[in-house]
Amino acid sequence: MKIRTIEPFILHLPLTSDSISDSTHSITHWGVVGAAITTEDGLTGYGFTGTHAHLASDRLITACIRDCYGALLVGEEADDITRLWTKLARHPSLQWVGRAGITQLALAAVDVALWDLKSKKAGVPLWQYLGGARTDRLEAYNTDIGWLSFSEEDLITGAARAVEEDGFTRIKLKVGHEDPNADIRRLAAVRKRVGADVRIAIDGNGKWDLPTCQRFCERARDLDLYWFEEPLWYDDVGSHAVLARSTSIPIALGEQLYTVDAFRAFIDARAVAYVQPDVTRLGGITEYIQVADLALANRLPVVPHAGEMSQVHVHLSYWHPASTILEYIPWIKDHFEEPANVRDGVYLRPQQPGASTSPLAASFERYGKSLG
Ligand SMILES: [Mg+2]
Repeated sequence: MKIRTIEPFILHLPLTSDSISDSTHSITHWGVVGAAITTEDGLTGYGFTGTHAHLASDRLITACIRDCYGALLVGEEADDITRLWTKLARHPSLQWVGRAGITQLALAAVDVALWDLKSKKAGVPLWQYLGGARTDRLEAYNTDIGWLSFSEEDLITGAARAVEEDGFTRIKLKVGHEDPNADIRRLAAVRKRVGADVRIAIDGNGKWDLPTCQRFCERARDLDLYWFEEPLWYDDVGSHAVLARSTSIPIALGEQLYTVDAFRAFIDARAVAYVQPDVTRLGGITEYIQVADLALANRLPVVPHAGEMSQVHVHLSYWHPASTILEYIPWIKDHFEEPANVRDGVYLRPQQPGASTSPLAASFERYGKSLG
């Protein structure tokens, strides 16, 4: 199954609401930036990273896929994922300019496309190809009801609807106002509305400093928060370790870590309780598995960050034994041949061969962008 072509693509897909914000980002579209890899026998695998739909930087990713990785992959045996991953990730010239950011996002897209190809060739869904399901019930938690840009009234209404109508027992709310007391008030109002049995996680997106986080955690003690995600600057191992020791709220992080080495630093420092790898930021599924295995060896739960909006992570979470629950944001699912769907708060287990990453032809036509 030799690789014949590698064709990069950029899709800018509109959100299901007009725009959303957390403490550090405001977006109107989600960028699906990736590669279609076709073999000589005509099979095509799709992989992509997730972006904030910034066309200039999306084109840097597709240029890396086309000009750097494409040249190294055409004519290669597509099945040899481990060897090909090493060839790309450890290429002397690319390693010099990469190991994070653009080259790693491009590597993620290529790697996911290779795994999609391999499981399509085997004729089974990715979770089954990897070794079968650990469970028949993968619970979802809803992030899409909790954006910082929502008014308190909309926050309460959305949380109540997710719990009472859609069957979620877990939700995540964004925090990170200039005055943390504003966040305490919003969280207390939602807790009062949904009751004690709903698991409420929070996400700061790296906005606050250590003393602000410590003061916030002290004031939030009675809210029974399930985890505090990205409380601090993403790379600051030491401050996360200090915070973890000063609060009973478990720390979650990982969505902006690009390597297994970065995860090891946080885990070794006991600075993280919930490990959040993302195939779109790590070097794809290949490095995700290394991180999930590392978490497993340290007896830490894995709760992936859904940078691909769960199209791939639903497979990995049904399979990997360290997995627990999975994020749900429904922005882009309807642009794929096999959407990542939730019913009564539980992910449907994918049934089609592959990684569920094949975009619809109509979505390519309508939302595809020029590579420049
Ligand atoms: Mg987050």
